[in-house]
Amino acid sequence: MEITFEKATAFKDHPDDSALGFGTIFTDYMFNMDYSQDKGWHNPRIEPYGPIAMDPSTMVLHYGQAIFEGLKAYRTESGGVQLFRPMDNFKRFNKSAKRLCIPEFDEEFVLKALLKLLAVEKDWVPGAPGTSLYIRPTIVAMDPYLGLRSSFTYRFFIILSPVGAYYPEGFDPVKIWVTPDYVRAVRGGVGEAKTAGNYAASLYATDLANADGYTQVMWLDGVDLKYVEEVGSMNIFFLIGDEVVTPELTGSILSGVTRNSVMQLATSWGKKVVERRISIDEIFSAHESGELKEVFGSGTAAVISPVGNIKYQGKEITIGDGNVGPFAAKLFKELMDIQYGKAEDPFGWIVKVEE
Ligand SMILES: *Cc1c(COP(=O)(O)O)cnc(C)c1O
Repeated sequence: MEITFEKATAFKDHPDDSALGFGTIFTDYMFNMDYSQDKGWHNPRIEPYGPIAMDPSTMVLHYGQAIFEGLKAYRTESGGVQLFRPMDNFKRFNKSAKRLCIPEFDEEFVLKALLKLLAVEKDWVPGAPGTSLYIRPTIVAMDPYLGLRSSFTYRFFIILSPVGAYYPEGFDPVKIWVTPDYVRAVRGGVGEAKTAGNYAASLYATDLANADGYTQVMWLDGVDLKYVEEVGSMNIFFLIGDEVVTPELTGSILSGVTRNSVMQLATSWGKKVVERRISIDEIFSAHESGELKEVFGSGTAAVISPVGNIKYQGKEITIGDGNVGPFAAKLFKELMDIQYGKAEDPFGWIVKVEE
């Protein structure tokens, strides 16, 4: 399949690197591709960024057959542009597709399309420390139909957004809130897919946490309301004694690329990394006995997000002295250094965008 290119007639002003936030500015071009039952995925094209016309009956608007991914392009000190484990995102994207009855796509082809889009848009990759170009691949159901079934047509698109440093004022621990009243995912559900509805499902409890002065919700499992699953839209890690513990993937937890990278890095440093069920009670008793050293989230947006406080059933604990722990800080630095090309990449994680 050949990727066609339509040149834009107008170009946007590039924002100042220091003024970047998250997800408000989009570049001049996007990638689009369509699916129909007779043609499969077809008409791959790079064209000017713009609205998608939809009939009000379009299926994605009613039944939420939508999946997405999130990854970043990084500017290196020598001026190059590179990606971090993009094939892992596209493999996961296809897994989400399968779970949501969306037709799978050729991962190698889509990576090629992304590299081509980035070659066109490379001047949009900001260069200030901690900034990056956020990449959002998405697939939505396009049939104009109100009957409940999976759609016969789909739109695949990739949009790009220059984003600021996640921690402009320094690497700060967050306060998190645990609720036994709401869950984001259940066993057998769609928790391990990056599908739109999971995020809609998380909003209400997040509002309650915010109103109580907490930044994120720590999600418990949907069956026993006992075992920790994730924090906000990040995976979670606990340093207990000298052991790194993260919840095992049970189907309701998103398998993070950053999660896997943390596990590989920590293992390469000689740390024992354990994937297992871990209850909120165990965390509170590990805190009581002084064994709980650090808690942090992992995800593409923040890389590592240290947790300073956890509140559960009216009781709040402070992790360590409430500051960023040395293990989280070391992981954060090493991952960022690999992503920005400042450290060697012994794992083969980096894919360079051709000049
Ligand atoms: C995207 C996401 C993550 C983090 O995945 P990364 O690949 O590390 O960015 C974790 N949990 C949820 C619910 C997510 O949507």
